[in-house]
Amino acid sequence: MLELKKISKVYITDSFRQKALDDISINFRSNEFVSILGPSGSGKTTMLNIIGGLDKYDTGDLIINGVSTKEYIDRDWDTYRNHRVGFVFQTYNLIPHQSVLANVELALTLSGVSKKERRNKAIKVLTKVGLKNHIHKRPNQLSGGQMQRVAIARALVNDPDILLADEPTGALDTETSKQIMNLLSEIASDKLVIMVTHNPELANIYSTRIVKVLDGHIIDDSDPYDGESEEKKQAKDKKTNMNFKTALSLSLNNLMTKKGRTLLTAFAGSIGIIGIALIMSLSNGIQKYIDKTEKETLSSYPLTIQKESIDMGSMLVNMSNNNKKTNYDDDKIHSVNIMGDMFTSLSNKVNKNDLKSFKEYIEKNDEIKNYVTDIQYGYNITLNIYKNTKEEVLRVNPTTVLDAVGMGTNGISGVYSSYMSNYDVFYELIDNENLLHTQYDLVSGNWPTKYNELVLQIGENNEIVDYSLYSLGILDQKELKEQFNNMTSGKKVSFDNHTYEPKDLIGLSFKLVLNTDFYTKTGNIWIDKKDDEEYMKKIIDNSLELKIVGIIKPNEEAVTGSKAGGTVGYRHDLVTYLIDKINNAEITKEQKNNQEINVFTGKNFNTKSFDMSSLSREEMMSLSTLSQTELASYMQTMKENMQATYEQNLAKLGISDLNDPSSISIYPKDFDSKKEIENIIDKYNENRKEEDKLTYTDLVGIMMSSVSTIVNVISSVLIAFVAISLIVSSIMIAIITYISVLERTKEIGILRSIGASKKDISRVFNAETLIEGLVAGVLGIVVTLLLNIPINIIIKKIVNISGIASLPLSGAIVLILISIILTVIAGFIPATIASKKDPVVALRTE
Ligand code: ADP
Ligand code: MG
Repeated sequence: MLELKKISKVYITDSFRQKALDDISINFRSNEFVSILGPSGSGKTTMLNIIGGLDKYDTGDLIINGVSTKEYIDRDWDTYRNHRVGFVFQTYNLIPHQSVLANVELALTLSGVSKKERRNKAIKVLTKVGLKNHIHKRPNQLSGGQMQRVAIARALVNDPDILLADEPTGALDTETSKQIMNLLSEIASDKLVIMVTHNPELANIYSTRIVKVLDGHIIDDSDPYDGESEEKKQAKDKKTNMNFKTALSLSLNNLMTKKGRTLLTAFAGSIGIIGIALIMSLSNGIQKYIDKTEKETLSSYPLTIQKESIDMGSMLVNMSNNNKKTNYDDDKIHSVNIMGDMFTSLSNKVNKNDLKSFKEYIEKNDEIKNYVTDIQYGYNITLNIYKNTKEEVLRVNPTTVLDAVGMGTNGISGVYSSYMSNYDVFYELIDNENLLHTQYDLVSGNWPTKYNELVLQIGENNEIVDYSLYSLGILDQKELKEQFNNMTSGKKVSFDNHTYEPKDLIGLSFKLVLNTDFYTKTGNIWIDKKDDEEYMKKIIDNSLELKIVGIIKPNEEAVTGSKAGGTVGYRHDLVTYLIDKINNAEITKEQKNNQEINVFTGKNFNTKSFDMSSLSREEMMSLSTLSQTELASYMQTMKENMQATYEQNLAKLGISDLNDPSSISIYPKDFDSKKEIENIIDKYNENRKEEDKLTYTDLVGIMMSSVSTIVNVISSVLIAFVAISLIVSSIMIAIITYISVLERTKEIGILRSIGASKKDISRVFNAETLIEGLVAGVLGIVVTLLLNIPINIIIKKIVNISGIASLPLSGAIVLILISIILTVIAGFIPATIASKKDPVVALRTE
């Protein structure tokens, strides 16, 4: 059944040729117990390895069941080893990290036998060799004889035709040796057993045929065989193939025996992942925060188009673009001319926008409604609001707080007045109620639903600044005057703290006085009676009552501007009501009907100088009743009024055209909508002449996009840095895998001897790196998630934004995949090296 025909094998090491087998020819019966005897180095192992298909012969032929193996490819040899031969070695060659049962099952695993059958067969053969009670032990928990029995069981489990044993008793004592020999001779009753030994006594007792070898030649054969009576049969063997699950469990078991090292390796591999995951968490959180802020900022800072605007953007560009360094002499200091640019910027870039036609345009355009939460039209009007009381005349808007201490608009310097304008107590609410309700919480009372209803907005912590309390007349402005005097005279200033019940504030009422109500007609001119207390009391008494109906405060989620607690919001309705009233006032009609004549002087607008001689008789008569000071003040206002134009008079009276707003504020739904709105504006501009085009400055947009860009740039730079550490950790994993290959060389040999193909071997190592990569990736993500907790706490402490560091799920998955892919790539070369290892050499390594 097995025949060696003129087989020669030469080992070439460096320049030295070692003839291990020299023209060997021998034939074996299908069941006999052959002992090969010979001194060390005579070629016994080489012969056995060639018979077992572990080693390749140089010349000659090995005939198996009448079939030449000359045409055998790797696969055929693998199948042959797995199904037809079983190997038993002197040093047992068991896989130390697998149980006895698993060691025996392994050969069956390779031939693709089902798990149940595998188990049964393995237990059966282990029982046969007398190890039934030891199947769950590890090899190192067994004695030498027991280990050799395991090796024999493993060799027999696939029911091979040939059992090859290389000095199986070489490491055993005499008694145990005899037991093993008994077992082998029993096996030889229906199999071919070829045993190498240098114990002639045992050979003589147990074997049926003794072959002596010396220097690669057969020098004696006790029972030669010509093989002619043998019938030819071609066995049909299944191809060996280790499935990936087996490879995984082999590697997993191996890794489990070195948990510490596996974890360390995984940790080393995970450092890069941790770095990237941390950066990802942060930039993800920051991006989310920016997006959220953007959205909310857009609702408090809409896209606003002013009737008159300065193109700030191009102005800034003009001013900074002046560093042209041509013809500079390094030893001199050069002047740079920016004034000219500034002039042109200032003079050219004041844009007059035709908001009347733009308002028409957007009111007809349905598309824009998809992108906006609200569109607000602003008008150049002042709301004159007074405290609702008969005792005194107290204007609450525009505020008189600073007048009370002698620092009113006249006394105040420019810096302060623009600063104080941020403290307007009354402001117009966003028209879109949904948006309003998402930004503010109703603390008490109701949302305003009628044009004359107001809402008091307090701060996040329920506060109202005393500036508002004094402005609204809730606190007495006289007190303020006293404190101010204390301060100027060097005394201590102290303000009391007050608390209020919501019901004290809800129901507070005010009166709205029209600009046109300030004037009363005397003779043919309108006289300003603003400072006439009795007149004003009467006017206020008959004016529209405004009432606070609710208290709101900014939502915790809302990113609102820094409006101080204690402002009063009014509805847009109130503005339209006011404009309508003003437009229908007597004085308005008179001025509009006769646009040549100034209603305040009764003279033509062209008359710029004022002299007594131009006065009519009636005018002279009425003037004669005035006191000296009254007359002086009359002369003064008269002179001023003479300088006015028709337009200035309209502005003074607060006359506005509802169709011609002074500003349009568009509140986009989100950032993308904002772009769409800009497109719509661009479309509007498309067919217009240069001077009719709308211009606006999107400062928020410029600011926001540059912040996003900065975050992106920073995180990509960081990621680039961390990528390097990822590469380093991959290299580390490659090295560790390579060390593992070196360590497991013996195992590679064993696997090959029981029929594992090269592919199977590389699969085992790829499985190992896959596990390492998975562990590294998961570890990295877990560590990152843990690190994110203190990071978030710290960030919350520092900038009071919660949940900045949050790793997106998709990022976590991608990073684990990257970790696996990188480690598998890193382990690929060591795995290939492992698979290329010569099984014979592998088996010889200790
Ligand atoms: P035995 O098993 O009879 O002791 P071997 O078959 O192991 O002898 O070796 C036969 C000869 O071939 C020895 O001289 C040995 O040094 C040599 N030899 C065996 N394997 C190799 C190898 N892989 N490389 C080089 N020489 C080898
Ligand atoms: Mg040997």
